[in-house]
Amino acid sequence: MRSVDDHLASVLARIQPLPPFEQHLLDAHGHRLAEDVVAPRDVPLFDNSAMDGYAVRRIDVVGADQESPAVLTVTQDIPAGTATEAEIGPGECARIMTGAPVPRGADAIVPVEWTDGWSEGTVRVHRVPEHGGHVRHMGEDIQRGQTLLTVGTVLGARQIGLLAAVGRDLVAVRPSPRVVVISTGSELVEPGVEPGPGQIPDANGYTLSAAAREAGAIVYRVGVVADDPKLLLDTIEDQLVRADLVVTTGGVSVGAYDVVKEALSGLGTVEFDRVAMQPGMPQGFGVVGPDEIPIFTLPGNPVSAYVSFELFVRPAIRKLAGYEDDLHHPVVDAICTAGFGSPGGRRQFARGVVGPAGSGGRIEVRPVGGAGSHLMGGLAQANCLISVPEEQTRVQAGDLVSVVLLDEAREVLAMMGER
Ligand code: AMP
Ligand code: MG
Repeated sequence: MRSVDDHLASVLARIQPLPPFEQHLLDAHGHRLAEDVVAPRDVPLFDNSAMDGYAVRRIDVVGADQESPAVLTVTQDIPAGTATEAEIGPGECARIMTGAPVPRGADAIVPVEWTDGWSEGTVRVHRVPEHGGHVRHMGEDIQRGQTLLTVGTVLGARQIGLLAAVGRDLVAVRPSPRVVVISTGSELVEPGVEPGPGQIPDANGYTLSAAAREAGAIVYRVGVVADDPKLLLDTIEDQLVRADLVVTTGGVSVGAYDVVKEALSGLGTVEFDRVAMQPGMPQGFGVVGPDEIPIFTLPGNPVSAYVSFELFVRPAIRKLAGYEDDLHHPVVDAICTAGFGSPGGRRQFARGVVGPAGSGGRIEVRPVGGAGSHLMGGLAQANCLISVPEEQTRVQAGDLVSVVLLDEAREVLAMMGER
């Protein structure tokens, strides 16, 4: 048997990040940047008016007030989207709208509210703007050459907006890994179908599809494949065109109909190992097809399949997605509130509910459900996995244990400010 750590290391050593690709802005939404984005131009792109009003030479209006307004000749009209070369001379001004370029010669904007109104010929200004008043200066927001966003940033609405504002249409991002999920087992039916004698609903296909999405993948869930080696191989082959990674469940133990092992062993590129863990001992990993797409063959018991996914497949998906650190769920220490037994020689991942322990800032974990790897009820309540070392055969109430935080648990602890 190989250890959990050895298995994980050997899997990850064979996963390479997917190459970045250029995407149009909206298609890049939700993806991780694969480049540092440097501003190709200034924002604002040119000095422009922050108000609807008049572009003036400030010196011409200095001293003006209600009693003695400055009178200026309106020589131009500058709506947004236009530009003018004509300079504002002494005693002159331009009608200007918000966002329109400030004409040469002008050094401040007088809002229309500080005048006698919109006028074609002359305008009376009764209040003096500051020097540069109501002018949005070129480059005051972003300067050309400045780094705007760095590699690894997930592009949300505000980042997409920033890219658009500097005029970028294409950006290099990491693709979301495409994960094909296949459930094997002649006993499986779709949820919603009344199970016949000996039949059960396919739980794994749904559990793992959802877990793969949570890991950032685009998921293709292939329905149920019966225990027939030829059918399984054909299905995998058909799916390879849309897969960066394939996950199967079931058929990897030592039963007479364990077709996954039977079918894939023949290819010579997938290895089947016994990993010293509970649940999830039988594990297969390798590559399939001409493009050597990684494939995980997880055990069929639902808890085994899920735990194996979170421990081995999720980090692989994140590595494909270009993550370098942060591949794994966080692990914290917690005080266990109840004792339970653990198999010697195997790392146990017991299900638990983690949360604050009173007000002392300590974390405690309560085991839920039993040890059976078919027990879905306890799994659904759990928000963490209690990791019991290989050599330990009993956890006592009050023991400090290592806890692998699943997503909700991370939120629980973040709310407490523990992490
Ligand atoms: P296997 O490794 O194929 O013998 O499966 C081990 C156990 O897990 C059996 O009880 C199967 O019925 C069950 N099982 C396998 N696949 C699934 C699945 N997709 N959903 C629910 N249970 C499953
Ligand atoms: Mg089976």
